[in-house]
Formats: sequence, structure tokens, C-alpha cells
Amino acid sequence: MLSRLAFIALVLSSSTVLAAPVATPKIPPVASLGEGVWLKGDLHIHSRHSKDSSNNPEAKIIRFAENAGFDYIAITDHDNHVDGDVAHNSWTDPEFKSKSVLLLYGAEWTTDRGHGNVFSAKPYDHKRLYDVRDERDAKILAVKKSLGVHLSANHPSGKDHFGFSYDIVDSIEVWNSPVWPQNAAAMLIWDDMLRSGRKLTGRGGSDSHHGVPDTPAQAVANSIQATADYVGTPTTWMFAKDRSGQAVVDALTNGRVSVSANPDDPRVELRADLDGDGQMDMMMGDNAKASGKPVTFQAKMVGGGITGAAYHIKVVKNGQDFGAYYTDPATGTASFTDTPAAQGRTYYRVVVEGPQTPYPLLPNSMALSGNMVALSNPVFFNFDPKF
Ligand SMILES: [Zn+2]
Ligand SMILES: [Zn+2]
Repeated sequence: MLSRLAFIALVLSSSTVLAAPVATPKIPPVASLGEGVWLKGDLHIHSRHSKDSSNNPEAKIIRFAENAGFDYIAITDHDNHVDGDVAHNSWTDPEFKSKSVLLLYGAEWTTDRGHGNVFSAKPYDHKRLYDVRDERDAKILAVKKSLGVHLSANHPSGKDHFGFSYDIVDSIEVWNSPVWPQNAAAMLIWDDMLRSGRKLTGRGGSDSHHGVPDTPAQAVANSIQATADYVGTPTTWMFAKDRSGQAVVDALTNGRVSVSANPDDPRVELRADLDGDGQMDMMMGDNAKASGKPVTFQAKMVGGGITGAAYHIKVVKNGQDFGAYYTDPATGTASFTDTPAAQGRTYYRVVVEGPQTPYPLLPNSMALSGNMVALSNPVFFNFDPKF
């Protein structure tokens, strides 16, 4: 039996819970900034198993990725070209192997309501997702969850744009192919989703279909694309816990991701110093409770790039232009300060313009990307992890 004191304590604690403000969600601590490795790759590649490809066996793609030093790739063939059975086509191809490049399992989910890419560290029953492509979104979401895969909206503003609810996806292809200007509307959709509380990772994908012909006689009209749009245009960087396929998929889901026009361009890392001690303690993709105090942000260009270049950093806050800065050519960094609202959601992301670093393996990609060098995922405040 409860003592009178215990009874009072029980009543008090339950009334405290009921009266607690519900505005700020419970947010787990930010993961370590030090434990991990940056991995670069491409999340949207078509091999010969897609009927609209040419001269592109898997071996050609994988050798290219190995020679260019990529860490991971996803070969994402159109599932409708093999009646949903990518498992016995793209994944069982004897060429589907590499000693140095992590190969994700996936496909381009190719439906009448648009396209999405599926990513997994291990084989899964893709046919189940293919079979529900014309069902209601809630049913599709249930199948996706039961498969344990990552689903991503493809080329959301272009032809065959993703026409399903964004509640069923974990990421969005904000940078499709080296042709940067066609992605402007994808960025608008991304910002709308972010503003509405969806913590959706932005990623890249070359959507390349065409390999270099082995002989001039094998050339087709689209073969010219092989010199401009192939593995790494753009390149998606992931800060993964370790060098494994699962860590790549997890990083993609968590948003510790940035995208560069090509692998020889620098990578932009957006970090924030929450407590003002001069040490950066969160990065893009991370979500923290806003304290109501000013926060210093740092955008840093890392690796590659043009020596001595000053890159133009445009900061987007909650979908609006917040400010523009140039990186210090000596350190590659630009800093800014702002106070995220103590109540309600805030996010900051950056877009980087500047001189395009040549990608000698794909000499015609540069001109298509223009000045667009890189973009970060957002740093988030007060986003509800359970949303
Ligand atoms: Zn597509
Ligand atoms: Zn595609």
C-alpha cells in the first residue's frame, strides 16, 4: 500500500508531466564528430541491365570507380526493365564485385508515378516493392519498412519526378547529373520538405547510362554523354562510422552528407559550435536543442579544389537566403553567427560556388556544372526525431 507521502509524490510527478511544455521534442545527443571516415561515391548509375543504357557493363563502371578512387557506388538499374527482378540481374551479374569499392544493393524503382532509388547494404526482396508500386502510399511505406531499406526520391523536379508522398522516403536527389541548372526546382522542393519538419537528406546521383564504346563501331548517339556524365558527376560524400555498406546507408539516412560537382572538387563541411567554447560540436545532418544563445557556424572546403581560390558560400536558413561569404583562401573556411530560435525549428545549409576543378576522367562535365561546386546538408535545431 502507498504511504500518504508517496501518494502525494505520485500525484505531483504526474501533474508535472501533464503540465510540461510540448513545444520542444526530446532530442538525443549528437554523435561523435571524430569517429568516422569520409567516403565518396555515386548513388545513381545504370548498367547494361537497364535497357536505355549503352556500352555499360558493370565491369566498366566498377573499373572506372576503382581507378578514380571511389569508396562506394550504387548501381541502380530500372526495375521495370527486368520485371522487378533486379536480384537476378544487376546483383547476380558475375561482374558485380570489387576489392576496393563498396557496392550497395539497390535499384531505380521505376513507376508510373515517378522514380525513386532504393539503397541497402545487403540483398533484399526488391520484387515486393516493385509489386506494390501502384498501391496507396501507406501500403508502400509498410512494405518499405518491412524490407528495412532506404528509399530516396529521384530527380524530383524533372521528367518522371517522384510523385509519391515524401513521408515514404529518407532522402531526396537534389543534384541529378552534372547539368546543375535543371536542379534548381529540386532545391525548392527540398526546402519545402525541410521547412515542414521533414528531416530529409539531400543527395546527388549522376544518373549515368552510357559507357565509352570499346570500338568506334559500337558508338551510339548518346555515347557523347560518357565524357561528361559518369561515375561521380556529382559525387556524394558521407561521413560514415566505418568503411562498410551499412555505415554508408546509415550516414545517408542521418544526413552527414555533402555533394560536390565532381570528386576533384573540394567537399564542404558545415559545422557548428553550440556552446561557444571555440570547438565545433555538431555537423550537417545533426539535430540539437536550441539554447537561445548565439551559435557560430563554420563552412570549410576540404580536399581537392583550386589552390588559393576563394569560394562563395551562400547560407540558406529555413529556405530563405541568410547571408553570403567568401572562404579565406588560406584556411578554406568561412564563419557566420546566428541565434536559432529557442522554440520552433530552424535549419541552416550552404551552397558553394566558385571555380570548377577539372575532372580529367570526364573532361566535358565541368562546363555543364558551371560555377556550382558543392552543397551541404543542413544543421538542424529542434527537429522532432519522431516526426
Ligand atoms: Zn529516373
Ligand atoms: Zn536513373
